[in-house]
Amino acid sequence: MIQLGLQNVCLNADVGSKEKAIRAAGNLLVEGGNIQPGYIESMMGREATANTFLGNGIAIPHGLPKDRELILRTGISVVQIPDGVEWNPGERVHLVVGIAAKSDEHLQILTNLTQVLDDTATIERLTHTQDPQEIIERLTRGPGGSSRGSSNGSALEADFDQSVDLAITGKAGLHARPATAFVNLAKSFASEVKVRYGDQVANGKSLMSLLKLGVEQGQTIRVMAQGADAAAALRSLQAAVEAGLDEKEETAPTQAVALPALALESDAIAGVPASPGIAIAPFYPYRRSRIVISDTAADPQQESLKLRLAVDQAKAELAELHADVQQRSGDQAAIFEAHQELLCDPDLLEAATAYLRPNHSAAWAWQQTYEERAKSLEGLKDATLAGRAADVRDVGQRVLRYLADRVEAGSQLPDHPVILLADDLVPSDTAGFDPGVIQGFCTARGGATSHTAIIARALNIPAVVGAGEAILDLPSGTQGILDGNGGKLYAHPSKTDLQRAEQAQAEQHALQDVEHQARFAPALMTDGHRIEVVANIGSPAEAEQAVNAGGEGVGLLRTEFLFLGREQPPSETEQQQALESMTRALNGLPLIVRTLDIGGDKSLPYLNLPAEENPFLGVRGIRLCLQQSELFETQLRAIFQTAKTSYLRIMFPMIATLEELRAAKFIAESVRASVSGPPVEIGMMVEVPSAVLMAAEFAREVDFFSIGTNDLTQYLLAMDRGHPALAKQADGLHPAVLRAIAQTVQAAQAAGKWVGVCGGVASEPLGALILAGLGVAELSVSIPSIPMVKAALRRQSFAQTQQLAQQALRCSTASEVRGL
Ligand code: PEP
Ligand code: MG
Repeated sequence: MIQLGLQNVCLNADVGSKEKAIRAAGNLLVEGGNIQPGYIESMMGREATANTFLGNGIAIPHGLPKDRELILRTGISVVQIPDGVEWNPGERVHLVVGIAAKSDEHLQILTNLTQVLDDTATIERLTHTQDPQEIIERLTRGPGGSSRGSSNGSALEADFDQSVDLAITGKAGLHARPATAFVNLAKSFASEVKVRYGDQVANGKSLMSLLKLGVEQGQTIRVMAQGADAAAALRSLQAAVEAGLDEKEETAPTQAVALPALALESDAIAGVPASPGIAIAPFYPYRRSRIVISDTAADPQQESLKLRLAVDQAKAELAELHADVQQRSGDQAAIFEAHQELLCDPDLLEAATAYLRPNHSAAWAWQQTYEERAKSLEGLKDATLAGRAADVRDVGQRVLRYLADRVEAGSQLPDHPVILLADDLVPSDTAGFDPGVIQGFCTARGGATSHTAIIARALNIPAVVGAGEAILDLPSGTQGILDGNGGKLYAHPSKTDLQRAEQAQAEQHALQDVEHQARFAPALMTDGHRIEVVANIGSPAEAEQAVNAGGEGVGLLRTEFLFLGREQPPSETEQQQALESMTRALNGLPLIVRTLDIGGDKSLPYLNLPAEENPFLGVRGIRLCLQQSELFETQLRAIFQTAKTSYLRIMFPMIATLEELRAAKFIAESVRASVSGPPVEIGMMVEVPSAVLMAAEFAREVDFFSIGTNDLTQYLLAMDRGHPALAKQADGLHPAVLRAIAQTVQAAQAAGKWVGVCGGVASEPLGALILAGLGVAELSVSIPSIPMVKAALRRQSFAQTQQLAQQALRCSTASEVRGL
């Protein structure tokens, strides 16, 4: 057993930084004769590659494996920092346990650490004790030392003094994604956070603990906090819960119309429709790989280390998967973030470590732990929460693979089109499917709210789930039909049914393709009124993508891309080349170049600007350009040089006063004259409330307005557009924003000027229709939304959208507008 001597413990350390804390732990090891001084640098180096924050105020800095020869004798040191030191943003450490391990003698200490991790009272004691023996005793206690009870407490657990009762309003209750948002927010506070639901109490910083409460929609929870920032924690958590905990409604993939179920004569196996569409292809039974583990192991310390390593490897894998799915299906990638959060859960690791003691293997202990968790979720009444059991098993198996004796290979994924049949699938399986190969899938188990189903919808793969075990006996290679709309699998379709299904499939594909096909046609409404649909872009490559998606030009070029992520501003030539490459791709279609909009949440380190208390209300957009005239003039020169050969317009961002507009126009005109550039239309963004109120005056001095609803909403409602708890309420379809738009359009029309909208609401079909009805002439939208926005406009007459817009203006809340 490793010795932790008095000389290796330092109490009441006063270190002001993480680096000093690590060096203090290293110096104790040097003084104790455990390491050579060079190992301290290795400990610093380790921080760059690994996170040594263990949780709940404890960190375990250690060196890089390659530097082991600098270790003279395995040992640990403890630096107690009662005031704490910031380890990672939002994570403070009070006990720094420096580790120099030549062998694995230190593992019992790690095991002991994981046992106290969630034991706030013990950590609190060790953080403030004036008796080093107390720390030594707790960390060097041998196997079989006292252990704590399970995570979800009972009614006997006392509430904290400060608490707030909150209703959970999200459709799916406190399921994985909202619970992850809650846990992440709770973790950003030092205070302990607990959640009471009836007589159960959960650790508010543990995802698993929260999920196990099984809180459903409409239920009330008591959020409690204790600690220095308890009041602030409660305020933030309350705001986040009331704002819906970042809960996004699941968005349908790309479909504009609900697809009808097939009506066939052949016998069908009925399941649950999980993802719409029809697949006709041979069946392909798919067996997942089998993980073979040993139940026992001789050395619990070794097993404890193996477990920790396996969890780290699984976390790294999930980070990669998250990045990949994010690229393929956007929002749905959040599921894998929630999976990572499950693995960060101290309760889970603690429970698994506790199972190691009677000489069980890490694999057995881990499997036992996650299965228990999955089963307790399965037992919940709420179907969505119960469905999260699949997520727990998915994450569990990801770790288990690293602890297995062997993994017996499952089926390979096919390389030809199939309908895949499986007992059940986990989200990581579905995320790896190629929609060109997996035409559809059917599972024996599972529900429509599973993440597997959600990913299938995002990838546009028709799917039926919960069809029963009979599907597992269907012969491989038989041609079948999967109806994702009706939730049926036809195993032996007649010839006639096959023909009917093919025809229905072709019609549905055609229906889905209509919008895409018609992307190049103008957005002519049924009574002939035309809206120009252009794109928002932020890089040269996107100019071509915008054209290919049916964009009729570019309504907003965010030029910031040229200036960000570098050490000095781009030269005039570089800017001109970038602009010319875009005008070439646009081939005569209009391009609106917005001058630099830096400040707010975007900064340029090379400008050395002073930090601002309120950057969104500070020197941002045109204000910055007027102060940095060299930067502004260089950009304007590049624009006017490009204008000599190409068609473009200029637009100034963040104009709040007439003086700003006049100053910007004056500089633009002198630059134009200096390079003998052609006259160029000049417009301004309307995104500051004063610009709305003074729109009549502004309209006389510009050629056009483009309304930036993202900022306009932020400034009208006084809600930070990126705020985790407020962003959802900062809705661009709020009647206040719509009334501001109506006022701007009226002022512009009176002056004979046109108005575009380039903020996010223009990219939503409902937003596009209301804006058209308000008299907006141009909608500048995100590239993927172009076909959909055009199709939505084509289905309506201008008169209908005018009526809709008037109704929207009369609404009192954003949700009333969305309900129209
Ligand atoms: C806006 O504010 O709506 C806008 C389009 O500009 P940005 O999002 O670049 O601030
Ligand atoms: Mg803006």
